[in-house]
Amino acid sequence: MKWCQSCVLPDTRPNLILDKDGICNACRNHQSKKIIDWNQRQEQLKKVVEDAKSRSSGYDCLIPVSGGKDSTWQTIQCLELGLKPLAVTWRPPGRTPIGQRNLNNLIQLGVDHIDYSINPDVEARFMLKAFEQLGSTAIPMHLALFNIPLTIACRFRIPLVIWGENSAFEYGNKREADTGFTLDNDWMRTYGVTHGTKAIDWVGDSFTRADLTPYFGPDDQELQQAGVRAIFLGYYLQWDPETSKAVAVQHGFESDTNGPRTGYFNYADIDDDFISLHHWLKWYKFGFTRTYDNLSLEIRNERMTREQALEIIRQLGDETPHGDIETFAQFTGVSKDYLMSVAEKFRNLSIWQKNENGVWYLPNFIIN
Ligand SMILES: [Zn+2]
Repeated sequence: MKWCQSCVLPDTRPNLILDKDGICNACRNHQSKKIIDWNQRQEQLKKVVEDAKSRSSGYDCLIPVSGGKDSTWQTIQCLELGLKPLAVTWRPPGRTPIGQRNLNNLIQLGVDHIDYSINPDVEARFMLKAFEQLGSTAIPMHLALFNIPLTIACRFRIPLVIWGENSAFEYGNKREADTGFTLDNDWMRTYGVTHGTKAIDWVGDSFTRADLTPYFGPDDQELQQAGVRAIFLGYYLQWDPETSKAVAVQHGFESDTNGPRTGYFNYADIDDDFISLHHWLKWYKFGFTRTYDNLSLEIRNERMTREQALEIIRQLGDETPHGDIETFAQFTGVSKDYLMSVAEKFRNLSIWQKNENGVWYLPNFIIN
């Protein structure tokens, strides 16, 4: 386990690679953003908008939204670009009251909206199964997040899907062109946080093909035929969590005044009780938490030094989201102890060791 010398992320993070100077690809990519000609990117974006409008017959674009600050920012940008959007939400089973209020606020910006709910029985069983098999409660969420908007875009013949941040750019490479690109199944397998699985892989004793309908998306050929292209707005416009938050707040977005639910920000990951479970397992599998992701962004955006981030890490107590684990236990009908024992199965023994008192520790942790 090695740590980036610039931010506070380890090389155990999927898709994160350290170079010979010990700097990670996310930090390098961030540095490269400084030399990007953003005016030129904005011109490219205008072409994307023109292309979409020329092919549209109603909605010009589909925006997958959660109601979070990024999707609020995305929606504002799309409206300012003169696009007629359809906003689409996969409704998380653990949606929080503040998440609902922020989503209502987003709709009032002036968009049509679909709130897509999945049968909670299927969702609970699917989340539990994904957790038991792969230590990830978030696989159903990611399948739903990507596939529901693409399915609706195909059905409604919407020429452009506008995603927010390009997670693949932070940790990998995906080049975009003047008319966007096809967010194909290859991309989803690599960056979609589904452990490389697709809905079809989960059909069997527990679920029929029909049960999992919402998790199936159009195949690459259907996307091509429907003329659905995709872009990440973060490719064309400078993306920074503080800036997008500030713009969202000006337009009615609420942060959580009770402080962060998980990680370091009180304005991210606040719309769903179960998102913390996804981040929780990073600790067992990779030896870091959501806080490290958040702090690394702050370092890259020069709002914090690495030393300050390390000081915050020294002060961090146990970050286990006990309340949310309890809620998830009730949702899935198992005990909290059982969930804790499943998490334990995913402890990565190549990075964790037990000391003489039987306490787990990370020998190569970022601090002593
Ligand atoms: Zn880094």
